[in-house]
Amino acid sequence: MRAPALGRTKAAQKGRTRRMAAPQAYCVKCKTKREMKDATQITMKNGRPATEGKCPECGTKMFKIGASS
Ligand SMILES: [Zn+2]
Repeated sequence: MRAPALGRTKAAQKGRTRRMAAPQAYCVKCKTKREMKDATQITMKNGRPATEGKCPECGTKMFKIGASS
């Protein structure tokens, strides 16, 4: 019998940077939505999740509030 894991983590399977559905964000330079490059999940100061990355076209920093599901 196994003891139940402490608080299930959805991100438990994450590890490698594999081809997942890249989160999209608006690029202010390209003036369009693009898939984020190097998307990273971060937590803002107020404790809310956000995603940070770069535009694959121009390299502008992108930011999106909310974790990618
Ligand atoms: Zn761009």
